[in-house]
Amino acid sequence: MTATPAKSIPATLIPGDGIGSEVSDATLAVLDAVGAPFEWETCKAGMAGVDACGDPLPPETLASIRKTRLALKGPLTTPIGGGYRSSNVRLREEFQLYANLRPARTLIPGGRYEKIDIVLVRENLEGLYVGFEHYVPIGSDPRAVAVASGVNTRAGSRRICEFAFDYAAKNGRKKVTLVHKANVLKALTGLFLEAGRDVAKKYEGRIACDDRIIDACAMQLVMNPWQYDVIVTTNLFGDILSDLNAGLVGGLGMAPAGNIGTDAAIFEAVHGSAPDIAGQGKANPLALILSAAMMLDHVGLQEKAKRVRDAIDDVLCKDNIRTGDLGGKASTKQFTDAVVARVR
Ligand code: NAD
Repeated sequence: MTATPAKSIPATLIPGDGIGSEVSDATLAVLDAVGAPFEWETCKAGMAGVDACGDPLPPETLASIRKTRLALKGPLTTPIGGGYRSSNVRLREEFQLYANLRPARTLIPGGRYEKIDIVLVRENLEGLYVGFEHYVPIGSDPRAVAVASGVNTRAGSRRICEFAFDYAAKNGRKKVTLVHKANVLKALTGLFLEAGRDVAKKYEGRIACDDRIIDACAMQLVMNPWQYDVIVTTNLFGDILSDLNAGLVGGLGMAPAGNIGTDAAIFEAVHGSAPDIAGQGKANPLALILSAAMMLDHVGLQEKAKRVRDAIDDVLCKDNIRTGDLGGKASTKQFTDAVVARVR
């Protein structure tokens, strides 16, 4: 009997800037090996969009995602200070990808921290990322004062907390921690905390809930990270804590992410375009490959996602093949070939 080929799933691919094409090529090779049925539309964004048509988020790219409602995205460069607004932030806003799911799991035993398994749920659309910023001129200095406003809504806070508790319930997790700064930002993050505590009541007896102030949480994540299970927090705190969590499990090369909304989802690594190592063939593709595994989970192909994760575990721990950021000597290609061989 021959197996029925899986129905093809249209998806948008944005290879990204810097190391983007290197880690995207690696990820496509692994997806191909596992028989992922994605039918790719390759699109440009970030610097590639600027170079091609002067737009970091070209209309064709948006139209493709509007159609496929599913994308895999390499890292995009954002100019610091001036220049254009982050294409990553714009994509999240355009498709209302309100939840940023960022799991951190120990993949290589013997590191600083063993057996880490924390899922961070970051609110993706509100808080200080809304971009309400301006300067106030004083005298001859046109930028004497900088002002930024954060915006959290009760509806947005409830929605992200519901996502976190629902994720916990569906994935066998025991506890959700609400992380905030309601002692100082009493309105902005107090509202988030209030909404989170309210959502927690619906899950009483099934999922435990506690809360932490962001600074204490950062310290505890370093001192005793095992007390955390699922963390849900506002946009900026989530951005910072997800890099901290990546550090607990070996660095940015290990951290996948999914930006999930009601109608669309975009999967990407937590890391950026790493201009310092771009084009050298030494980037670790693991984070984007793991993001692609999350994408497989998202479309209901959990068995394929598991095969990818198992292959990665074997390559890292049995074959001992690792890229330079993990203390190994393998190039991007050598690591990828090893994962492909294990997947097959
Ligand atoms: P970065 O994540 O690109 O790099 C930080 C450090 O980690 C660098 O030393 C880099 O070499 C290393 N690193 C990152 N990914 C790696 C990988 N896969 N393998 C091995 N080493 C890796 O952060 P940055 O330097 O602050 O940002 C560079 C650019 O990326 C900026 O323009 C920033 O705005 C952008 N950025 C994009 C995203 C995204 O697309 N989601 C996320 C973060 C940063």
